[in-house]
Amino acid sequence: MNPSIVERLRSAGRLDRVFIDGEWVVPQGQARSSVIDPSTEEPVAEIALGTAQDVAAAVAAARRAFATWSVSSAQSRALLLDRVHSLILERAELFAQAISLEMGAAIGFARSTQVPSAAQHIRVARDNLASYSFVTHRGDMAIMREAIGVCGLITPWNWPLYQITAKVGPALAAGCTVVLKPSELSPLSALLFAEVMQDAGIPPGVFNLVSGNGPEVGAALSAHPDVDMISITGSTRAGVLVAQAAAPTVKRVAQELGGKSPNLILPDADLARAVPAGVAAAFRNVGQSCSAPTRMIVPRARLQEVERIVLEAAASFVVGDPRSEQTTHGPVANRAQFNRVQEMISIGIAEGARLICGGLGRPEALSRGFYCRPTIFTAVHPQMQIAQEEIFGPVLALIPYDSVDEAVEIANGTVYGLGAHVQGEDLGAARAVAARIRSGQVHINYPAWNPHAPFGGYKRSGNGREYGIEGLEEYLETKAILGFQDASAPSTD
Ligand code: NAD
Repeated sequence: MNPSIVERLRSAGRLDRVFIDGEWVVPQGQARSSVIDPSTEEPVAEIALGTAQDVAAAVAAARRAFATWSVSSAQSRALLLDRVHSLILERAELFAQAISLEMGAAIGFARSTQVPSAAQHIRVARDNLASYSFVTHRGDMAIMREAIGVCGLITPWNWPLYQITAKVGPALAAGCTVVLKPSELSPLSALLFAEVMQDAGIPPGVFNLVSGNGPEVGAALSAHPDVDMISITGSTRAGVLVAQAAAPTVKRVAQELGGKSPNLILPDADLARAVPAGVAAAFRNVGQSCSAPTRMIVPRARLQEVERIVLEAAASFVVGDPRSEQTTHGPVANRAQFNRVQEMISIGIAEGARLICGGLGRPEALSRGFYCRPTIFTAVHPQMQIAQEEIFGPVLALIPYDSVDEAVEIANGTVYGLGAHVQGEDLGAARAVAARIRSGQVHINYPAWNPHAPFGGYKRSGNGREYGIEGLEEYLETKAILGFQDASAPSTD
Protein backbone atom coordinates (compact mmCIF):
# COMPACT_ATOMS: atom_id res chain seq x y z
CA MET A 1 0.00 0.00 0.00
CA ASN A 2 1.02 3.55 -0.56
CA PRO A 3 1.56 4.83 2.99
CA SER A 4 2.46 8.36 1.95
CA ILE A 5 -1.00 9.75 2.52
CA VAL A 6 -1.12 8.34 6.06
CA GLU A 7 2.43 9.57 6.78
CA ARG A 8 1.49 13.00 5.56
CA LEU A 9 -1.53 13.19 7.86
CA ARG A 10 0.37 11.66 10.79
CA SER A 11 3.36 13.98 10.55
CA ALA A 12 1.04 16.98 10.41
CA GLY A 13 -0.62 15.73 13.61
CA ARG A 14 -3.99 15.36 11.94
CA LEU A 15 -4.71 11.75 12.92
CA ASP A 16 -4.79 12.64 16.61
CA ARG A 17 -6.95 15.71 16.32
CA VAL A 18 -10.30 17.19 15.50
CA PHE A 19 -10.78 20.61 13.91
CA ILE A 20 -12.72 23.04 16.12
CA ASP A 21 -12.91 26.83 15.98
CA GLY A 22 -10.11 27.08 13.40
CA GLU A 23 -7.66 24.91 15.41
CA TRP A 24 -6.54 21.31 15.33
CA VAL A 25 -7.20 20.14 18.90
CA VAL A 26 -6.78 16.84 20.76
CA PRO A 27 -10.25 15.40 21.46
CA GLN A 28 -11.42 15.11 25.04
CA GLY A 29 -11.68 11.30 25.23
CA GLN A 30 -9.20 8.47 24.76
CA ALA A 31 -11.08 6.44 22.13
CA ARG A 32 -9.32 5.62 18.88
CA SER A 33 -10.31 3.65 15.84
CA SER A 34 -8.36 1.83 13.15
CA VAL A 35 -8.65 2.60 9.48
CA ILE A 36 -8.59 -0.76 7.70
CA ASP A 37 -7.34 -1.09 4.13
CA PRO A 38 -10.12 -3.23 2.60
CA SER A 39 -7.74 -4.71 0.02
CA THR A 40 -5.49 -6.26 2.71
CA GLU A 41 -7.75 -6.27 5.78
CA GLU A 42 -4.80 -4.67 7.63
CA PRO A 43 -4.95 -1.51 9.75
CA VAL A 44 -3.13 1.37 8.09
CA ALA A 45 -3.82 4.21 10.48
CA GLU A 46 -5.38 4.99 13.83
CA ILE A 47 -7.43 8.09 14.38
CA ALA A 48 -8.54 9.76 17.57
CA LEU A 49 -12.31 9.79 18.01
CA GLY A 50 -14.20 12.82 19.25
CA THR A 51 -16.70 12.77 22.09
CA ALA A 52 -19.96 14.48 23.04
CA GLN A 53 -17.83 17.18 24.75
CA ASP A 54 -16.02 17.85 21.48
CA VAL A 55 -19.39 18.12 19.75
CA ALA A 56 -20.46 20.67 22.37
CA ALA A 57 -17.28 22.72 21.81
CA ALA A 58 -17.70 22.58 18.04
CA VAL A 59 -21.38 23.60 18.23
CA ALA A 60 -20.50 26.52 20.52
CA ALA A 61 -17.82 27.66 18.06
CA ALA A 62 -20.25 27.32 15.14
CA ARG A 63 -22.85 29.34 17.04
CA ARG A 64 -20.39 32.17 17.72
CA ALA A 65 -19.29 32.19 14.08
CA PHE A 66 -22.87 32.18 12.81
CA ALA A 67 -23.41 35.76 13.96
CA THR A 68 -20.98 37.11 11.36
CA TRP A 69 -20.94 34.39 8.69
CA SER A 70 -24.74 34.47 8.25
CA VAL A 71 -24.64 38.18 7.40
CA SER A 72 -21.43 38.08 5.35
CA SER A 73 -21.78 39.12 1.72
CA ALA A 74 -22.66 36.45 -0.82
CA GLN A 75 -19.60 37.59 -2.74
CA SER A 76 -17.21 36.85 0.13
CA ARG A 77 -18.73 33.41 0.65
CA ALA A 78 -18.46 32.74 -3.09
CA LEU A 79 -14.77 33.69 -3.01
CA LEU A 80 -14.16 31.28 -0.17
CA LEU A 81 -15.92 28.48 -2.08
CA ASP A 82 -13.78 29.28 -5.11
CA ARG A 83 -10.65 28.74 -3.08
CA VAL A 84 -11.99 25.48 -1.65
CA HIS A 85 -12.78 24.27 -5.17
CA SER A 86 -9.30 25.13 -6.45
CA LEU A 87 -7.57 23.48 -3.49
CA ILE A 88 -9.53 20.25 -3.90
CA LEU A 89 -8.43 20.10 -7.54
CA GLU A 90 -4.82 20.96 -6.63
CA ARG A 91 -4.82 18.14 -4.07
CA ALA A 92 -6.86 15.75 -6.19
CA GLU A 93 -4.18 13.06 -6.15
CA LEU A 94 -3.98 13.09 -2.33
CA PHE A 95 -7.74 12.80 -2.09
CA ALA A 96 -7.82 9.97 -4.62
CA GLN A 97 -5.19 8.03 -2.65
CA ALA A 98 -6.99 8.62 0.63
CA ILE A 99 -10.33 7.45 -0.78
CA SER A 100 -8.78 4.42 -2.41
CA LEU A 101 -7.06 3.46 0.84
CA GLU A 102 -9.95 4.03 3.24
CA MET A 103 -12.80 2.49 1.22
CA GLY A 104 -11.15 0.51 -1.56
CA ALA A 105 -12.15 2.52 -4.64
CA ALA A 106 -10.07 1.65 -7.70
CA ILE A 107 -7.53 4.45 -8.02
CA GLY A 108 -8.54 5.22 -11.61
CA PHE A 109 -12.16 5.55 -10.54
CA ALA A 110 -11.24 7.70 -7.53
CA ARG A 111 -9.23 10.01 -9.80
CA SER A 112 -11.68 10.18 -12.69
CA THR A 113 -14.96 10.27 -10.79
CA GLN A 114 -14.98 10.40 -6.98
CA VAL A 115 -12.75 13.47 -6.62
CA PRO A 116 -13.84 15.62 -9.61
CA SER A 117 -17.53 15.09 -8.87
CA ALA A 118 -16.90 16.08 -5.24
CA ALA A 119 -15.22 19.30 -6.39
CA GLN A 120 -18.24 19.97 -8.64
CA HIS A 121 -20.56 20.24 -5.64
CA ILE A 122 -18.50 23.16 -4.34
CA ARG A 123 -18.55 24.76 -7.77
CA VAL A 124 -22.32 24.38 -8.10
CA ALA A 125 -22.86 25.84 -4.61
CA ARG A 126 -20.68 28.81 -5.57
CA ASP A 127 -22.55 29.36 -8.85
CA ASN A 128 -25.98 29.10 -7.23
CA LEU A 129 -24.93 31.56 -4.56
CA ALA A 130 -23.92 34.06 -7.22
CA SER A 131 -27.34 34.01 -8.88
CA TYR A 132 -29.72 33.33 -5.98
CA SER A 133 -32.22 35.96 -4.82
CA PHE A 134 -32.27 35.82 -1.04
CA VAL A 135 -35.01 38.49 -0.95
CA THR A 136 -38.05 38.56 -3.22
CA HIS A 137 -41.24 40.62 -3.07
CA ARG A 138 -44.90 39.63 -3.40
CA GLY A 139 -47.42 42.42 -3.03
CA ASP A 140 -46.59 44.32 0.16
CA MET A 141 -44.45 41.46 1.45
CA ALA A 142 -40.75 40.81 1.42
CA ILE A 143 -39.90 37.11 1.43
CA MET A 144 -36.48 36.65 2.95
CA ARG A 145 -34.53 33.41 2.69
CA GLU A 146 -32.15 33.26 5.64
CA ALA A 147 -29.54 30.76 6.79
CA ILE A 148 -31.15 28.24 9.12
CA GLY A 149 -28.26 28.32 11.61
CA VAL A 150 -25.79 25.76 12.94
CA CYS A 151 -25.93 22.54 10.93
CA GLY A 152 -24.72 19.06 11.88
CA LEU A 153 -23.61 17.12 8.80
CA ILE A 154 -23.30 13.33 9.05
CA THR A 155 -21.81 11.48 6.08
CA PRO A 156 -21.17 7.87 4.95
CA TRP A 157 -18.09 6.08 3.61
CA ASN A 158 -19.19 5.11 0.10
CA TRP A 159 -18.45 8.38 -1.73
CA PRO A 160 -16.67 9.94 1.21
CA LEU A 161 -15.53 13.29 -0.18
CA TYR A 162 -18.51 13.68 -2.51
CA GLN A 163 -21.01 13.29 0.34
CA ILE A 164 -19.11 15.86 2.40
CA THR A 165 -18.98 18.52 -0.33
CA ALA A 166 -22.64 17.92 -1.26
CA LYS A 167 -23.52 19.20 2.22
CA VAL A 168 -20.73 21.61 3.15
CA GLY A 169 -20.89 23.56 -0.15
CA PRO A 170 -24.56 24.59 -0.03
CA ALA A 171 -24.60 24.96 3.78
CA LEU A 172 -21.76 27.50 3.69
CA ALA A 173 -23.22 29.17 0.60
CA ALA A 174 -26.49 29.65 2.49
CA GLY A 175 -24.65 31.34 5.37
CA CYS A 176 -24.86 28.43 7.80
CA THR A 177 -22.01 27.26 10.00
CA VAL A 178 -21.35 23.54 10.27
CA VAL A 179 -20.09 20.65 12.35
CA LEU A 180 -19.14 17.73 10.11
CA LYS A 181 -19.10 14.15 11.37
CA PRO A 182 -17.79 11.93 8.60
CA SER A 183 -17.98 8.16 8.66
CA GLU A 184 -15.57 6.70 11.19
CA LEU A 185 -14.69 4.17 8.47
CA SER A 186 -13.46 6.79 5.99
CA PRO A 187 -11.87 9.58 8.03
CA LEU A 188 -8.75 10.27 5.95
CA SER A 189 -10.35 12.18 3.09
CA ALA A 190 -12.34 14.15 5.69
CA LEU A 191 -9.13 15.20 7.49
CA LEU A 192 -7.67 16.32 4.15
CA PHE A 193 -10.86 18.25 3.49
CA ALA A 194 -10.55 20.07 6.83
CA GLU A 195 -6.99 21.04 5.81
CA VAL A 196 -8.41 22.45 2.57
CA MET A 197 -10.94 24.49 4.53
CA GLN A 198 -8.25 25.84 6.80
CA ASP A 199 -5.91 26.68 3.93
CA ALA A 200 -8.75 28.34 2.03
CA GLY A 201 -9.07 30.75 4.95
CA ILE A 202 -12.37 29.68 6.48
CA PRO A 203 -13.06 31.93 9.49
CA PRO A 204 -12.79 30.13 12.88
CA GLY A 205 -15.92 28.20 13.82
CA VAL A 206 -17.59 28.33 10.41
CA PHE A 207 -16.45 24.80 9.57
CA ASN A 208 -15.69 22.24 12.28
CA LEU A 209 -14.83 18.56 11.99
CA VAL A 210 -15.42 16.05 14.77
CA SER A 211 -14.43 12.52 13.76
CA GLY A 212 -16.20 9.80 15.66
CA ASN A 213 -18.69 7.03 15.59
CA GLY A 214 -22.44 7.30 15.04
CA PRO A 215 -23.87 6.28 18.40
CA GLU A 216 -21.65 8.74 20.28
CA VAL A 217 -20.67 11.72 18.13
CA GLY A 218 -23.47 11.47 15.55
CA ALA A 219 -26.11 11.00 18.25
CA ALA A 220 -24.75 13.91 20.35
CA LEU A 221 -24.86 16.18 17.30
CA SER A 222 -28.40 15.07 16.42
CA ALA A 223 -29.69 15.71 19.95
CA HIS A 224 -27.78 18.95 20.61
CA PRO A 225 -30.24 21.75 21.49
CA ASP A 226 -28.19 24.45 19.76
CA VAL A 227 -28.03 22.65 16.39
CA ASP A 228 -30.75 23.97 14.07
CA MET A 229 -30.56 21.32 11.39
CA ILE A 230 -29.10 17.87 10.82
CA SER A 231 -28.41 16.50 7.38
CA ILE A 232 -27.52 12.82 7.27
CA THR A 233 -26.56 10.64 4.36
CA GLY A 234 -26.51 7.01 5.37
CA SER A 235 -28.64 3.95 5.91
CA THR A 236 -32.35 4.22 6.58
CA ARG A 237 -31.60 2.68 9.99
CA ALA A 238 -29.24 5.51 10.97
CA GLY A 239 -31.55 8.12 9.42
CA VAL A 240 -34.40 7.00 11.68
CA LEU A 241 -32.15 7.13 14.78
CA VAL A 242 -31.01 10.64 13.87
CA ALA A 243 -34.61 11.82 13.38
CA GLN A 244 -35.60 10.32 16.73
CA ALA A 245 -32.70 12.01 18.53
CA ALA A 246 -33.49 15.32 16.80
CA ALA A 247 -37.25 15.28 17.46
CA PRO A 248 -37.29 16.70 21.02
CA THR A 249 -35.54 19.87 19.83
CA VAL A 250 -37.68 20.17 16.67
CA LYS A 251 -34.71 20.71 14.39
CA ARG A 252 -34.95 20.29 10.64
CA VAL A 253 -33.79 16.84 9.57
CA ALA A 254 -32.69 16.14 6.00
CA GLN A 255 -32.22 12.47 5.24
CA GLU A 256 -30.50 10.99 2.20
CA LEU A 257 -30.94 7.29 2.84
CA GLY A 258 -31.01 3.92 1.14
CA GLY A 259 -32.26 2.85 -2.24
CA LYS A 260 -33.07 -0.10 -4.50
CA SER A 261 -33.27 1.71 -7.77
CA PRO A 262 -34.97 0.19 -10.82
CA ASN A 263 -33.71 0.25 -14.39
CA LEU A 264 -36.80 -0.27 -16.50
CA ILE A 265 -35.97 -1.60 -19.96
CA LEU A 266 -39.00 -0.87 -22.15
CA PRO A 267 -39.92 -3.35 -24.91
CA ASP A 268 -38.55 -1.07 -27.66
CA ALA A 269 -35.20 -0.37 -25.95
CA ASP A 270 -31.98 -0.78 -27.91
CA LEU A 271 -30.54 -3.58 -25.77
CA ALA A 272 -27.01 -3.26 -27.15
CA ARG A 273 -26.90 0.23 -25.73
CA ALA A 274 -29.24 0.03 -22.75
CA VAL A 275 -28.01 -3.15 -21.10
CA PRO A 276 -24.19 -2.70 -20.91
CA ALA A 277 -24.61 0.85 -19.60
CA GLY A 278 -27.07 -0.49 -17.02
CA VAL A 279 -24.56 -3.12 -15.89
CA ALA A 280 -21.85 -0.45 -15.61
CA ALA A 281 -24.16 1.76 -13.54
CA ALA A 282 -25.22 -1.06 -11.22
CA PHE A 283 -21.62 -2.09 -10.49
CA ARG A 284 -20.15 1.43 -10.37
CA ASN A 285 -18.23 1.94 -7.12
CA VAL A 286 -18.68 -1.84 -6.62
CA GLY A 287 -22.42 -1.32 -6.22
CA GLN A 288 -21.89 0.90 -3.18
CA SER A 289 -23.99 3.82 -4.35
CA CYS A 290 -27.33 4.66 -2.82
CA SER A 291 -28.90 5.17 -6.26
CA ALA A 292 -27.23 2.17 -7.98
CA PRO A 293 -29.80 0.69 -10.41
CA THR A 294 -29.58 -2.84 -9.00
CA ARG A 295 -32.93 -4.06 -10.32
CA MET A 296 -32.99 -4.41 -14.10
CA ILE A 297 -36.64 -4.85 -15.07
CA VAL A 298 -36.70 -6.64 -18.40
CA PRO A 299 -39.41 -7.67 -20.93
CA ARG A 300 -39.81 -11.42 -20.39
CA ALA A 301 -39.66 -12.04 -24.15
CA ARG A 302 -36.19 -10.47 -24.27
CA LEU A 303 -34.79 -11.93 -21.03
CA GLN A 304 -32.43 -14.41 -22.73
CA GLU A 305 -31.00 -11.72 -24.95
CA VAL A 306 -30.47 -9.47 -21.92
CA GLU A 307 -28.77 -12.31 -20.00
CA ARG A 308 -26.27 -12.76 -22.83
CA ILE A 309 -25.46 -9.03 -22.92
CA VAL A 310 -25.10 -8.63 -19.15
CA LEU A 311 -22.67 -11.53 -19.08
CA GLU A 312 -20.57 -9.97 -21.83
CA ALA A 313 -20.57 -6.64 -19.99
CA ALA A 314 -19.57 -8.17 -16.66
CA ALA A 315 -16.74 -10.12 -18.33
CA SER A 316 -14.90 -6.85 -18.93
CA PHE A 317 -14.57 -6.10 -15.19
CA VAL A 318 -11.13 -6.32 -13.67
CA VAL A 319 -11.56 -7.02 -9.95
CA GLY A 320 -8.39 -6.58 -7.95
CA ASP A 321 -5.90 -4.34 -6.21
CA PRO A 322 -7.44 -0.87 -6.01
CA ARG A 323 -3.99 0.71 -6.41
CA SER A 324 -3.54 -0.87 -9.86
CA GLU A 325 -4.43 1.34 -12.81
CA GLN A 326 -5.93 -1.68 -14.59
CA THR A 327 -8.45 -2.41 -11.86
CA THR A 328 -12.04 -1.41 -12.56
CA HIS A 329 -13.49 -2.78 -9.31
CA GLY A 330 -11.73 -2.98 -5.95
CA PRO A 331 -12.99 -4.69 -2.81
CA VAL A 332 -16.10 -3.62 -0.95
CA ALA A 333 -15.31 -1.09 1.74
CA ASN A 334 -15.31 -3.07 4.96
CA ARG A 335 -15.88 -6.43 6.62
CA ALA A 336 -19.51 -5.70 7.55
CA GLN A 337 -20.23 -4.89 3.92
CA PHE A 338 -18.44 -8.06 2.72
CA ASN A 339 -20.48 -10.19 5.14
CA ARG A 340 -23.69 -8.48 4.07
CA VAL A 341 -23.02 -9.13 0.38
CA GLN A 342 -22.20 -12.80 1.06
CA GLU A 343 -25.35 -13.19 3.15
CA MET A 344 -27.55 -11.67 0.46
CA ILE A 345 -26.01 -13.89 -2.25
CA SER A 346 -26.79 -16.94 -0.08
CA ILE A 347 -30.34 -15.68 0.39
CA GLY A 348 -30.77 -15.17 -3.37
CA ILE A 349 -29.62 -18.74 -4.04
CA ALA A 350 -31.93 -20.09 -1.31
CA GLU A 351 -34.86 -18.07 -2.70
CA GLY A 352 -34.44 -19.85 -6.03
CA ALA A 353 -33.16 -16.96 -8.14
CA ARG A 354 -30.94 -18.25 -10.99
CA LEU A 355 -27.29 -17.28 -10.57
CA ILE A 356 -25.66 -16.59 -13.94
CA CYS A 357 -22.51 -14.77 -12.86
CA GLY A 358 -20.36 -14.59 -9.72
CA GLY A 359 -21.64 -16.03 -6.47
CA LEU A 360 -20.27 -16.68 -3.00
CA GLY A 361 -16.66 -16.11 -1.95
CA ARG A 362 -13.81 -14.06 -3.36
CA PRO A 363 -12.80 -14.10 -7.01
CA GLU A 364 -10.17 -16.77 -7.70
CA ALA A 365 -6.60 -15.59 -7.12
CA LEU A 366 -7.63 -13.16 -4.39
CA SER A 367 -7.07 -14.85 -1.05
CA ARG A 368 -7.57 -11.86 1.22
CA GLY A 369 -9.27 -8.48 1.14
CA PHE A 370 -12.99 -7.75 1.05
CA TYR A 371 -13.30 -8.70 -2.61
CA CYS A 372 -16.67 -9.93 -3.84
CA ARG A 373 -17.49 -11.55 -7.16
CA PRO A 374 -19.65 -9.41 -9.45
CA THR A 375 -22.89 -11.34 -9.15
CA ILE A 376 -25.96 -11.44 -11.38
CA PHE A 377 -29.21 -13.25 -10.64
CA THR A 378 -31.89 -13.76 -13.27
CA ALA A 379 -35.55 -14.76 -13.19
CA VAL A 380 -35.78 -12.87 -9.91
CA HIS A 381 -39.27 -12.53 -8.48
CA PRO A 382 -40.01 -8.95 -7.40
CA GLN A 383 -40.94 -10.05 -3.89
CA MET A 384 -37.69 -11.90 -3.24
CA GLN A 385 -35.45 -10.40 -0.56
CA ILE A 386 -32.71 -9.75 -3.12
CA ALA A 387 -35.22 -7.66 -5.10
CA GLN A 388 -36.50 -5.75 -2.09
CA GLU A 389 -33.52 -5.02 0.18
CA GLU A 390 -30.60 -2.74 -0.45
CA ILE A 391 -27.49 -4.93 -0.70
CA PHE A 392 -24.95 -2.16 -1.29
CA GLY A 393 -22.55 -4.38 -3.17
CA PRO A 394 -21.91 -5.89 -6.61
CA VAL A 395 -25.18 -7.77 -7.05
CA LEU A 396 -27.63 -7.18 -9.90
CA ALA A 397 -31.11 -8.71 -10.16
CA LEU A 398 -32.83 -9.22 -13.55
CA ILE A 399 -36.58 -9.16 -13.00
CA PRO A 400 -38.82 -10.14 -15.94
CA TYR A 401 -42.19 -8.48 -16.68
CA ASP A 402 -45.06 -9.14 -19.08
CA SER A 403 -46.69 -5.70 -19.45
CA VAL A 404 -45.50 -2.13 -19.00
CA ASP A 405 -48.08 -1.63 -16.23
CA GLU A 406 -46.58 -4.57 -14.39
CA ALA A 407 -43.07 -3.17 -14.95
CA VAL A 408 -44.06 0.16 -13.38
CA GLU A 409 -45.64 -1.68 -10.47
CA ILE A 410 -42.40 -3.62 -9.93
CA ALA A 411 -40.33 -0.43 -10.22
CA ASN A 412 -42.45 1.21 -7.53
CA GLY A 413 -42.79 -1.93 -5.44
CA THR A 414 -40.17 -1.37 -2.73
CA VAL A 415 -40.03 0.86 0.34
CA TYR A 416 -37.44 3.00 -1.45
CA GLY A 417 -37.71 5.76 -4.06
CA LEU A 418 -34.33 7.35 -4.72
CA GLY A 419 -33.09 6.90 -8.28
CA ALA A 420 -34.62 5.23 -11.33
CA HIS A 421 -33.79 4.67 -14.99
CA VAL A 422 -36.00 4.16 -18.01
CA GLN A 423 -34.66 2.93 -21.36
CA GLY A 424 -36.60 3.15 -24.61
CA GLU A 425 -36.42 4.39 -28.18
CA ASP A 426 -39.86 6.08 -28.13
CA LEU A 427 -39.12 9.10 -25.97
CA GLY A 428 -42.81 9.87 -25.47
CA ALA A 429 -43.45 6.42 -24.05
CA ALA A 430 -40.32 6.63 -21.86
CA ARG A 431 -41.45 10.01 -20.50
CA ALA A 432 -44.90 8.64 -19.69
CA VAL A 433 -43.30 5.81 -17.71
CA ALA A 434 -40.87 8.21 -15.97
CA ALA A 435 -43.86 10.26 -14.81
CA ARG A 436 -45.34 7.18 -13.11
CA ILE A 437 -42.22 6.31 -11.12
CA ARG A 438 -42.21 7.31 -7.47
CA SER A 439 -38.63 8.43 -6.94
CA GLY A 440 -36.60 11.60 -6.58
CA GLN A 441 -34.76 11.22 -9.88
CA VAL A 442 -35.57 9.37 -13.08
CA HIS A 443 -32.99 9.14 -15.87
CA ILE A 444 -34.14 8.50 -19.42
CA ASN A 445 -31.53 6.76 -21.61
CA TYR A 446 -28.54 7.58 -19.38
CA PRO A 447 -28.08 11.34 -19.64
CA ALA A 448 -24.75 12.66 -18.32
CA TRP A 449 -24.46 13.25 -14.56
CA ASN A 450 -25.93 16.65 -13.72
CA PRO A 451 -24.90 18.19 -10.38
CA HIS A 452 -27.67 20.80 -10.78
CA ALA A 453 -30.40 18.15 -10.69
CA PRO A 454 -32.09 17.95 -7.28
CA PHE A 455 -31.41 14.57 -5.68
CA GLY A 456 -33.23 12.86 -2.84
CA GLY A 457 -35.74 10.26 -1.86
CA TYR A 458 -39.42 9.48 -1.91
CA LYS A 459 -40.66 7.04 0.74
CA ARG A 460 -37.96 5.55 3.00
CA SER A 461 -35.15 6.89 0.84
CA GLY A 462 -35.34 10.13 2.73
CA ASN A 463 -36.58 13.66 3.14
CA GLY A 464 -35.33 16.78 1.45
CA ARG A 465 -33.14 17.36 -1.57
CA GLU A 466 -29.46 17.90 -2.21
CA TYR A 467 -27.65 19.41 -5.22
CA GLY A 468 -28.74 22.34 -7.34
CA ILE A 469 -30.88 25.24 -6.15
CA GLU A 470 -32.99 22.87 -4.05
CA GLY A 471 -29.81 21.77 -2.25
CA LEU A 472 -29.10 25.40 -1.32
CA GLU A 473 -32.69 26.02 -0.22
CA GLU A 474 -32.48 23.04 2.12
CA TYR A 475 -30.27 25.20 4.38
CA LEU A 476 -32.55 28.26 4.31
CA GLU A 477 -35.43 29.42 6.48
CA THR A 478 -38.27 31.46 4.98
CA LYS A 479 -39.31 34.72 6.60
CA ALA A 480 -42.21 36.80 5.33
CA ILE A 481 -42.19 40.47 6.31
CA LEU A 482 -45.71 41.79 5.79
CA GLY A 483 -46.28 45.48 5.30
CA PHE A 484 -42.72 45.68 3.99
CA GLN A 485 -43.81 48.32 1.54
CA ASP A 486 -46.76 50.56 1.22
CA ALA A 487 -49.39 48.39 -0.48
CA SER A 488 -50.54 51.33 -2.61
CA ALA A 489 -47.01 51.99 -3.92
CA PRO A 490 -45.91 50.23 -7.14
CA SER A 491 -43.95 46.99 -6.59
CA THR A 492 -40.17 47.37 -6.58
CA ASP A 493 -39.72 44.11 -8.53
P1 NAD B 1 -24.52 4.24 8.08
O1 NAD B 1 -25.95 4.53 8.26
O2 NAD B 1 -23.93 3.10 8.81
O3 NAD B 1 -23.65 5.52 8.52
C1 NAD B 1 -23.85 6.78 7.93
C2 NAD B 1 -23.40 7.84 8.91
O4 NAD B 1 -24.31 7.85 10.01
C3 NAD B 1 -22.02 7.57 9.52
O5 NAD B 1 -21.32 8.78 9.68
C4 NAD B 1 -22.36 6.96 10.85
O6 NAD B 1 -21.36 7.10 11.83
C5 NAD B 1 -23.60 7.74 11.22
N1 NAD B 1 -24.46 7.11 12.21
C6 NAD B 1 -24.67 5.80 12.41
N2 NAD B 1 -25.50 5.61 13.47
C7 NAD B 1 -25.82 6.85 13.94
C8 NAD B 1 -26.63 7.33 15.01
N3 NAD B 1 -27.27 6.50 15.83
N4 NAD B 1 -26.72 8.66 15.18
C9 NAD B 1 -26.09 9.52 14.37
N5 NAD B 1 -25.28 9.12 13.36
C10 NAD B 1 -25.16 7.81 13.13
O7 NAD B 1 -24.32 4.17 6.53
P2 NAD B 1 -23.01 3.77 5.74
O8 NAD B 1 -22.83 2.29 5.92
O9 NAD B 1 -21.89 4.69 6.09
O10 NAD B 1 -23.46 4.11 4.24
C11 NAD B 1 -24.23 3.25 3.51
C12 NAD B 1 -25.67 3.68 3.48
O11 NAD B 1 -25.76 5.04 3.08
C13 NAD B 1 -26.51 2.93 2.48
O12 NAD B 1 -27.75 2.59 3.04
C14 NAD B 1 -26.71 3.93 1.34
O13 NAD B 1 -27.84 3.73 0.57
C15 NAD B 1 -26.76 5.20 2.08
N6 NAD B 1 -26.42 6.32 1.20
C16 NAD B 1 -27.40 7.17 0.80
C17 NAD B 1 -27.11 8.21 -0.07
C18 NAD B 1 -28.17 9.18 -0.52
O14 NAD B 1 -27.83 10.25 -0.99
N7 NAD B 1 -29.44 8.88 -0.40
C19 NAD B 1 -25.83 8.37 -0.54
C20 NAD B 1 -24.85 7.48 -0.11
C21 NAD B 1 -25.15 6.46 0.77
